Amino acid sequence: MWSDLMESGNKPDAEEAGELLANFDRYCQKAARALAEADVFLLVTGAGFSADSGLAIYRDVAKVPAYQARDLDYSDICMPHWQFDDPELFYGFWGQCFNDYRKTQPHEGYSILHRWKQDKNFDNNNVAETISARIERKVELQRPFDDEIVERHAPYLVKSGPAGAFFSFTSNVDAHLHDLFEAHEIHECHGNIESWQCSDPYCDAGVFRAPLDHSFEIDMETMLAPSVQGDTSSSSKNDTATQAGKKSSNSNHVPHIGQVGGSNRTQPLQKMPPPKEPNNWRTSTSIATDSEGNDVFPNWPQCALCKAYARPAILMFGDARWKRDIAQGERWNLWKETVLDLCEKRNSNNPLKVCIVEVGCGLNVPTCRFASERMVEDVARKGGDVVLVRVNPDFPLASDSDVNDCVIPIMARGLDAIKRIDKHYRGM
Ligand SMILES: [Zn+2]
Repeated sequence: MWSDLMESGNKPDAEEAGELLANFDRYCQKAARALAEADVFLLVTGAGFSADSGLAIYRDVAKVPAYQARDLDYSDICMPHWQFDDPELFYGFWGQCFNDYRKTQPHEGYSILHRWKQDKNFDNNNVAETISARIERKVELQRPFDDEIVERHAPYLVKSGPAGAFFSFTSNVDAHLHDLFEAHEIHECHGNIESWQCSDPYCDAGVFRAPLDHSFEIDMETMLAPSVQGDTSSSSKNDTATQAGKKSSNSNHVPHIGQVGGSNRTQPLQKMPPPKEPNNWRTSTSIATDSEGNDVFPNWPQCALCKAYARPAILMFGDARWKRDIAQGERWNLWKETVLDLCEKRNSNNPLKVCIVEVGCGLNVPTCRFASERMVEDVARKGGDVVLVRVNPDFPLASDSDVNDCVIPIMARGLDAIKRIDKHYRGM
């Protein structure tokens, strides 16, 4: 119902939609101008952004017969209790998401956005240097958490950074930003599929990285993950190496779990730092032999410290035990705070220009929209000059009428809009 209320306040009426679509190109040009003039670039992405890679969006991800037969939708399945109530279902869902994300190439929009970041030297121009230096000083003076706890909750240690005049904020858990962007400039507010945690709340294993060669074995008919790999008794079983996460070649196909589109991922996680040593993901060792004497390997990941089963370190619905990456969250908080400091320090004749490009952030999980609009309000209040480029095929308008004047509403899918903005941007 909350979602319905949000929806009624955001959906453009027929007249507004007509105006938005008719002015698509003009708005893209305005967005390109804002980006070209920006001192600071914040990228905010949601499920609609990943959809252009061929991945499923929230409302479609669980639309497969196995779940429909049990009357389960995305929000029903995305709950931590299944790990105990029906672990085959739990690891079937998360395991197939893992396989899908691992095999799908991030779309072309990622590299365009990355080029925008590089073009203006948002890493090390003057503003970037000021931001980095100020963050460094703050880290020295006010390290707010116990280091050991911070490290335990991080799947890897970030030695690079701090961020300059660019940052990215996403609710997507596919970890695809890590193929191109630096770990010190990414905040994944709901965690990511590459990070796992022990299911025992008293275990000290913290958060750990899934190995690059891991994949789950899933029965694609039932969407269940057996507890051990290598069981070939079922004819409908998918071999993870050949079929799981297979691509749909039908352009009208709506992606869902196990049936995604797109092409194969070429440089998975190339920018993500290596796992901590020792990594608490238990390396698969044979746990038994089958009747023919073949080794049997576990299919559900385990914690190396206590051997309890592991779960994704992703915020699920009704999830009180998610271990967030504290260090990653703190990098985002420090960056945001520092950008606001700079807004305040600038003279009103020369305000800091902040461009927020938000792509594919809908109303099902509105965290990203709130984060963008909050940043708009904060920057404006501190004297900065802020523009929010909101790219969304359904809800491109501001949710909060107070920020209306700062929004460039682009009613389109993410990749189409990014390409059109880029066309104007390159011509400037
Ligand atoms: Zn453990």
